Amino acid sequence: MKIAIIGAGFGGMAAAYDLRNAGHEVTIYESAGYVGGLASGFKEPHWDWSVEKFYHHWFQSDRYMLGLIRELGWEKMVLFPRPLTVMYHDGKFYPFDSIMKALLFPGLGFGLDKIRFGFVGLFLRLTNNWKALEKVTADSWMMKWAGKNVYEKMWKPLLVGKFGPFYRDVNMAWMWARIKARTTRLGTFEGGFQNFASLFGEKLRGMRVRIRLGAIVESIKREQDQLWVRSDGKDEAYDQVLVTTSPNLLAKLSPDLPENYLKGLLELKSMGAVVMVMSLRHQLSKEGYYWFNLPKEEGYPFLALVEHTNFVSKDHFGGDHIVYAGDYLEVGHEYFSMSEEQLLERFLPALKKFNPEFSREWVKKVWVFKTNYAQPVPLVDHSKNIPAIQTPIEGLYFASMSQVYPWDRGTNFAVEIGRRAARLMLGEKN
Ligand SMILES: Cc1cc2nc3c(=O)[nH]c(=O)nc-3n(C[C@H](O)[C@H](O)[C@H](O)COP(=O)(O)OP(=O)(O)OC[C@H]3O[C@@H](n4cnc5c(N)ncnc54)[C@H](O)[C@@H]3O)c2cc1C
Repeated sequence: MKIAIIGAGFGGMAAAYDLRNAGHEVTIYESAGYVGGLASGFKEPHWDWSVEKFYHHWFQSDRYMLGLIRELGWEKMVLFPRPLTVMYHDGKFYPFDSIMKALLFPGLGFGLDKIRFGFVGLFLRLTNNWKALEKVTADSWMMKWAGKNVYEKMWKPLLVGKFGPFYRDVNMAWMWARIKARTTRLGTFEGGFQNFASLFGEKLRGMRVRIRLGAIVESIKREQDQLWVRSDGKDEAYDQVLVTTSPNLLAKLSPDLPENYLKGLLELKSMGAVVMVMSLRHQLSKEGYYWFNLPKEEGYPFLALVEHTNFVSKDHFGGDHIVYAGDYLEVGHEYFSMSEEQLLERFLPALKKFNPEFSREWVKKVWVFKTNYAQPVPLVDHSKNIPAIQTPIEGLYFASMSQVYPWDRGTNFAVEIGRRAARLMLGEKN
């Protein structure tokens, strides 16, 4: 068969790998000038490693991604350091990445709240019954079982940070999946995620997958028993097409989809993200903390501060210290229309809270990355609203972040759904 894949993110590339291995002729259309999608990175001339545009790491439980890397023979290039994640309490940050550290965290006191926190965490780790949990909101479930204090201190800031105005609507299965599938050791790839993506791209090219960079797909139509992919004003015919972009974009590319499928795509909610990357002359967190969880009500202008070079060595970046400041936001939020300079002005004062010695002169360079589609929002009974991978148009398939539910989006699940889509396209049982 002749197959087109729209998008050279990890989902699209994983699907291409399996489809090509099964003997098919595969072409990937990628609108950007590079592979890697949301997990792509960039590099300054004096850096040996790339930096992800949006902070990225793997968990030890990311079996689909780690399995693919093993198949490709690159497991020696995966690194799993143990960086420090911290929680805010009363103007200070406390390590919070092991049971022992959680027990010592002063934010919950040392009485009943801590016991409730522990039991809720244990229950969520042990249960597999997410179908029951998707019927209630995380807000109401946590209030009931963890209690007001624990919820407001620990879990509400996470929900508010990720989902903004939708935080009360997100279902409890999302929270379950987060707690279930995460580990304290965090992983990356030698050279950065972009190095992995580029190596994977090269591997695919070596297998004679055609990767067309800078190729924006404009429409996909079914005519004369074939699917016609239009890019740069030209149509090319395929037997099958797999789209790995956002649901909104699929709806635009293929308006001939039946109304109920289109409606389902357009009703899916998601958050965008705005992330600033800074290279600094000095280390920001003297304690060497990697990930700061920040409660919005404390007035931070961003949700997460991540000092990448407290995860991987600054030596890979010519001695620069790399810091991210990022937030998940609705697409109309003012950050989307602010310039780099304006955002920097907004963010700079907050950096002193992490190190009082910080000053503007520390900042060598700044980059800002924005995406409209960063985090799907799963509402109550969300499993009923997931669009099928096999669309109602014959030969047209769709695999996106919005369909990996109940799991939270991530490169691991992009690989999983990309490979699942490939199996469906090959007519194999999933
Ligand atoms: C802020 C942030 C932090 C994250 N942190 C992590 C993390 O720590 N760990 C982790 O594993 N994951 C993380 N993720 C999620 C991860 O990046 C995604 O789940 C994953 O990259 C999705 O891969 P994909 O192939 O499904 O989609 P994408 O990577 O979005 O790929 C889709 C591709 O389609 C291309 N495209 C779009 N329109 C067109 C068109 N018209 N024609 C041709 N091509 C087109 C795009 O350019 C893109 O390359 C994070 C994401 C964000 C936004």
